[in-house]
Amino acid sequence: MTEAPVLRIRGLNKSFGTNHVLRGIDLDVMAGDRIAILGASGSGKSTFLRCLNFMETPSSGEITLDGRVLGRPRPDGSRIYPEASLTAVRQRIGMVFQQFNLFPHMTTIGNVTEGLRTVQRKDRATAEARAMRELARVGLAEKAQEYPSRLSGGQKQRVAIARALALDPDLMLFDEPTSALDPELVGEVLGVIRSLADEGRTMLLVTHEVGFAYHFANRVIFMADGVIQEEGPPDAVLKGPQNPRTQAFLARHK
Ligand code: ADP
Ligand code: MG
Repeated sequence: MTEAPVLRIRGLNKSFGTNHVLRGIDLDVMAGDRIAILGASGSGKSTFLRCLNFMETPSSGEITLDGRVLGRPRPDGSRIYPEASLTAVRQRIGMVFQQFNLFPHMTTIGNVTEGLRTVQRKDRATAEARAMRELARVGLAEKAQEYPSRLSGGQKQRVAIARALALDPDLMLFDEPTSALDPELVGEVLGVIRSLADEGRTMLLVTHEVGFAYHFANRVIFMADGVIQEEGPPDAVLKGPQNPRTQAFLARHK
């Protein structure tokens, strides 16, 4: 019996005006996959992740989560919209951003309980207990009452990871989670991501950290010109790339 993919992406296209950024992406994400996505700046990596939880509306294509179609072409074929509610999709697909995107006016625990309270309608005590578990997991239980402005970049990013995990998503998307960090803070965030991989979480990670991608991922994707140019196990794509574009990219990211 072949296993069904958690996420199935077919013919995904996205244009911004005349800028045709994604040009037909097909991908099956299997349970437990840790997929590293590499590509030059501007190649559409963020747009790809944002289309997966409908922060951007795809121009065409189909996205299926656990066998349920999230969006279909309209009758004129021009756009697709989520059929499941956006809120439901975003609970199941957690996202962590380069710039953390914490709510600055909320404490650490407030940031982590926000989705539990407003989206999952948990009572305060339940939400806070859950949030404390997630903060402990990322090593920040003692920062629960701090505001983001009092945290380092690495700590902010760990709070953002705890916030996403609190909703118990089926799939986690990381968009260059360490690119905004001082070099000495990168390790603590990669350590948390590594521990999630060890738990068997399904994850897509956009990164320029080629060395981390090699150890973290079971699959590596190289994107350019709006399509997946090369895809395979880390050894194949990172040590013996076939595509000249992948080769050139890796030569620049030693
Ligand atoms: P990457 O993450 O690989 O650096 P992006 O997905 O951010 O690439 O961007 C891909 C292209 O899409 C770029 O040309 C960028 O200018 C364009 N783009 C991204 N987001 C928007 C947007 N909201 N509006 C218009 N153009 C956008
Ligand atoms: Mg980006």
